[in-house]
Amino acid sequence: MRRQHAHRYVDDGVALVGDAAHMIHPLAGQGVNIGFLDAAALSACLLDAQDHSDFYSMAWLARYEKERRHPNLLMMQSMDFFYRAFSNRVLPIKLLRNIGLGVAGRLPFAKEHVMRLAMGIEGRLPELSRRVG
Ligand SMILES: Cc1cc2nc3c(=O)[nH]c(=O)nc-3n(C[C@H](O)[C@H](O)[C@H](O)COP(=O)(O)OP(=O)(O)OC[C@H]3O[C@@H](n4cnc5c(N)ncnc54)[C@H](O)[C@@H]3O)c2cc1C
Repeated sequence: MRRQHAHRYVDDGVALVGDAAHMIHPLAGQGVNIGFLDAAALSACLLDAQDHSDFYSMAWLARYEKERRHPNLLMMQSMDFFYRAFSNRVLPIKLLRNIGLGVAGRLPFAKEHVMRLAMGIEGRLPELSRRVG
């Protein structure tokens, strides 16, 4: 139930994906989604490397980490922000939160964009997951 992020996702012959690499608050049900995106990015990386004898080396696996670390961190920080905003009982923060939600609800494009990001069908996505989507 607490946020954790591995300092490194890869080493020679090792790649962490899903919760082994990052744990996120279950608030918005994003844990499995970002794990699937990790798997898609790692698969693509291994497909590119498959004809090389050093396919398991950092040289190849580092591409996977480079592709996934930033989007994962962004999702984790966004969920933390929502968790802190919605569990806060300080009146000015509650007011700001409600105003923010009201405004967002009146901006259909913004709302749809956030929903599509959460569903993993928009944003910086691994090539393989775009093909499946
Ligand atoms: C309360 C709660 C609610 C959640 N709700 C949602 C939700 O609604 N939507 C969503 O997307 N995500 C949700 N999540 C997050 C989601 O469950 C995880 O992100 C997801 O299960 C991670 O998948 P994973 O395969 O990386 O790890 P896991 O599902 O943890 O799988 C790891 C597996 O490895 C096994 N294992 C561990 N050590 C060893 C070993 N030494 N040898 C062999 N096997 C081993 C474990 O038994 C386990 O089966 C929730 C999490 C919690 C805690």
